[in-house]
Amino acid sequence: MDKHIFGPVPSRRLGISLGIDIIPFKTCTLDCLYCECGRTTNHTIERRSFFSTEDLIAEFREFLKTGDHLDYITFSGSGEPTLNSDIGYMIKEIKKMTKTPVAVLTNTTLLHLPEVQNDLLNSDLILPSLDAVSENVFRKINRPASGISAENLINGLKSFSRKYKGEIWLEVFVSRGINDSDEELEKIRKVIEQIMPSKVQLNSLDRPPAYSEAKPAGHDLLGMIVEKWKGLPVEIIKRVKKREEIPSFSKNLESNILNTIIRRPLTIEDLIMLTGKNRLEILKYIDVLEKEKSIRAEIVGEKIFYRTNS
Ligand code: SF4
Repeated sequence: MDKHIFGPVPSRRLGISLGIDIIPFKTCTLDCLYCECGRTTNHTIERRSFFSTEDLIAEFREFLKTGDHLDYITFSGSGEPTLNSDIGYMIKEIKKMTKTPVAVLTNTTLLHLPEVQNDLLNSDLILPSLDAVSENVFRKINRPASGISAENLINGLKSFSRKYKGEIWLEVFVSRGINDSDEELEKIRKVIEQIMPSKVQLNSLDRPPAYSEAKPAGHDLLGMIVEKWKGLPVEIIKRVKKREEIPSFSKNLESNILNTIIRRPLTIEDLIMLTGKNRLEILKYIDVLEKEKSIRAEIVGEKIFYRTNS
């Protein structure tokens, strides 16, 4: 892992965001059915240092020279960022260098640990996930590593929300037929009422999932949940996929990706290797090309290939 910073990229939730990827692909406490990064290959709950923090700081210092406008600096990546035990130090150091707010995307599974809570206290915004309250539904949709439970996740979220001074925007990923029963939605609503996040953001499948059991919710189901949860600050996450909405959009990179795919169907991994770009950055370009129907995704075995439509 030699490049930790990517973008700025347009984020559906955070406007113009500079991504900081601090987890090697694909290291996560969960192996969600719907994961857009693919299946978890390093399923773990062990927190550790993955690379030199000084390298990240040096990369960030270089980025600051560009003077690019940002809405957020976002710790995210191809896995769970709180598995990196240096995250607290990284947040502190980055905040010394910029006034741009720092956000952390987390799957919430380690938030019950006091050390993780302390690490995140200096951030300005956290975007935790809560897809299920019942253990059986949690296991089905999020496929946790051993040692992780929905109960711990929810307790961690509640206790963190009591001490955190920043904002919490809670994401609920809805997969049709899995976590959309009236009973489960009611349980989730009750937990949300106890946390009182500033926003509740409903998300659903938009890219090929890691497992074919994951199904998109569709606008009707998401709209129905907004109705059901009336009184809560719920919104449906919008899609941002026009090239003019992508800051620093590179026409060259787009044609490069397209010209390569024309020759043969490729996976995201192939494109990362060929372009040297970060996974999440490549995915933004794939979004635009798919929306314009220049390319399409095709699942072959456990892999997702992109091929041209012509
Ligand atoms: S928590 Fe995020 S990165 Fe981990 S498997 Fe789920 S969707 Fe993928």
